[in-house]
Amino acid sequence: MISKKIIKNLSNSSWIRAMFEEGEKLRKIHGADKVFDFSLGNPDPEPPAEVKAAILELAGSNELRMHSYMNNAGYPEVRETIAQKINKETGLSLNFSNVVMTVGAGGALNVVLKTLLNPGEEVIVFAPYFVEYLSYIDNHGGKPSIINTDLKTFLPDPELLRASITPNTKAVIINTPNNPTGVVYGVDILKNIAKILEEKSKEYGNTIYIISDEPYRKLAYDVKVSNILTIYKNAIMIDCFSKSLSLPGERIGYIATNPEADDISTLMSGLIYCNRVLGFVNAPALFQKVVAKAIDSSVDINIYKQRRDLLYDNLIKFGYECVKPDGAFYLFPKAFIPDDIEFKNRAMKYNLLIVPGTGFGCPGYFRLAYCVSLKTIQNALPAFEALAKEFK
Ligand code: PLP
Repeated sequence: MISKKIIKNLSNSSWIRAMFEEGEKLRKIHGADKVFDFSLGNPDPEPPAEVKAAILELAGSNELRMHSYMNNAGYPEVRETIAQKINKETGLSLNFSNVVMTVGAGGALNVVLKTLLNPGEEVIVFAPYFVEYLSYIDNHGGKPSIINTDLKTFLPDPELLRASITPNTKAVIINTPNNPTGVVYGVDILKNIAKILEEKSKEYGNTIYIISDEPYRKLAYDVKVSNILTIYKNAIMIDCFSKSLSLPGERIGYIATNPEADDISTLMSGLIYCNRVLGFVNAPALFQKVVAKAIDSSVDINIYKQRRDLLYDNLIKFGYECVKPDGAFYLFPKAFIPDDIEFKNRAMKYNLLIVPGTGFGCPGYFRLAYCVSLKTIQNALPAFEALAKEFK
C-alpha cells in the first residue's frame, strides 16, 4: 500500500489537472472546437526561431561528451552567460558561481526549499498562490504560513506581512508577474517587503530569505519587472524558460543569487548539493546550451497582450469584475456567486473550463489561462456572456 499521506494528497489533488481531465471528456463528446479550455498554463505559441536554430545546430555538433555528467550546477559557460545577462540588466556583479541551472522553476523551488529549511520552519505564501508551493514546502519539512493579499489589487499588504513573521519564519515566496492573478508587483511594494524582512531578520538574528519565483518575468506588458536581487541581497531569484521561450516540456530553468548575500559560499554549496541529492543531478544538458544561445530572445508578448485585451475588455462588458493584469497569461475574475465550485460547474454547461479560486487558496474567484488561441477566445465570448446573464 502506498503512503497514507500521498493517498490523502491525491484526493486533494490539483484543480487545474482535474479541470484538464474534465476537458478531455468534453472534447470527446462535443469535439475540440466546441470546448473552451482555459484551465492549463501551457503556452500555445511555438518557441522563437532562435530556439529551433540552436537545437538544430547543437544536434549536428561533433563536440565530444556533450551528453555526459557535468558539474551538478550546470555548464560554467552557460551559468556565466546568465550571470552576465542579469548584470547587464541590473548593474550587479554576478558570475557563474552565483547561478545554478535547474530542472525548470519547479525543480528550482524544491532545491531552494530543501537547502534552506529546518524541520517546522515557516515559509510565508501570499494567497492566491501557485498551488504547488504548499506541496513543495511540505516536501522539505516546512510549514506554509498563508496570508491574504488585498482583494482589490491582489498585492501583498506589508503590515500584514510584518505581523505574520515569527522567529520561525525562514522565507517569503513572492511571484511576480503572478499566477493566478497576472498582477506585477511595483518597485515600491518590493522595497517595502525588503525593508520589513531586513528589520525582522535583525530582530530575530536569522536571515529571512525572499524566494522570488519568476517564470513570467519576460511576460509583462508596458510595465517594468524589477529585479529582486537589486532590492534585497538575501533574495534568491528563480527563473525558467518554460513560459518565456515556450519550453515547459524541456524542464529548464535556473537559480540566481546576489554575491553579497549572507554566507554566500555555503548557500551556493547547499543549492548545488541539493540539486544532486534530489535526484535532478544536473539540468538537461542540451537545453542548457540551447537557452544560452537564445538568451536574448523571448516569445512575442504582443500575442499574449492582444488576447488579454480581447478577453478582459469583453468580460468587463459582460459585467464580470476583474483586476486588469499587467503580465503572465492569467485573469482572475470574481465569480458571480461565493461558491466558486458551483460557478465552475455552471460554466461547464457552456463547455467553458475554468479553475475555481479555491484551488489557489482564494474562494469566490476563478482563473482563466489565456495562453490559448485568439480564435478560442473569440469563440468562447458568447459562452462567457450567457454565463454572466444567468446571474443578472
Ligand atoms: N511557478 C509558477 C508561478 C508557475 O506558474 C509555474 C508553472 O506554471 C511554475 C512555477 C513551474 O514552472 P516550470 O514548468 O518551469 O517548473
